[in-house]
Amino acid sequence: MTVIPNEVFTPDVTREQAVRLFRDHLRAAGLDNPALDARHLCLAAFQTESAGLITSGHLALSGEECALLNEWLVRRVAQEPVGRILGRRDFWGLSFRLGPETLEPRPDTEVLVETVLNWIDHNGGRSQALRLVDVGTGTGCIAIALLHELPNATCVALDISLDALRVARSNAENLGVGARFFPVCGSYLDVIGACDLLVSNPPYIATPVIKTLSEEVRCHDPMRALDGGLSGLIAYETMMLMVAHNKPSGLRAGFFEIGYDQGRAVAEIVRETSGREPHLVRDLEQQDRVIWFEV
Ligand code: GLN
Repeated sequence: MTVIPNEVFTPDVTREQAVRLFRDHLRAAGLDNPALDARHLCLAAFQTESAGLITSGHLALSGEECALLNEWLVRRVAQEPVGRILGRRDFWGLSFRLGPETLEPRPDTEVLVETVLNWIDHNGGRSQALRLVDVGTGTGCIAIALLHELPNATCVALDISLDALRVARSNAENLGVGARFFPVCGSYLDVIGACDLLVSNPPYIATPVIKTLSEEVRCHDPMRALDGGLSGLIAYETMMLMVAHNKPSGLRAGFFEIGYDQGRAVAEIVRETSGREPHLVRDLEQQDRVIWFEV
């Protein structure tokens, strides 16, 4: 265990020194990205952008900034993710508020948004009045990023958590797409009237694997957003049954985020239930990350 003195940050420390001090303490505690995390948290405490730090680096810390940084350092060293400390996380260049029942958006999920937009660009373009359904919306990051790019689209955003839906709705409103974002509380099978595109980043970690995840994920992301049942595949099976049996009218294509090792298994589920040949898309690390199919 790393012991941290109570008062690392005091009013005789300048902003520039504070960033370095923060980084050094995170590095000593063995965290993966000490410089990046230190910068992110310090900029948030100073309520400034990178450029602002260049001109204000010589300023001494205020009492309030000292208190914040001392608290945040202890929390970060205890493995609390930066996004949870700040209660916000950037996704698709937009800033999303998090809640206790929302997953923290991941950069990997941007591949899903890109894949959907790419499909739309080849199938009628972005100005269509598309009706989207986002299953397990969480912070609303996927739905809101898409609405941001699709000026005439609407999205029904589904989640089992009312808390998540409240957070998602406030994100949609703050990011200017509230009028086209419709939160609905329910589980996979409860939905869906008519829709053009189905998107989802569902819980997909196999239950026995959860205990092997990093403490940052295990202890700070909500279990319901992670746990995909014994096989990790229950969400895909359920959604594809819904597609096969409820036949949402108008459905043109579906897009799911998947775990790096689930490509074959989810492809098989899609094939069996829809009779369609699915396509896999890899992320920047060359791992299978998204599967999509046309109906
Ligand atoms: N759709 C949300 C996201 O991508 C939530 C996903 C989840 O909770 N499994 O962040």
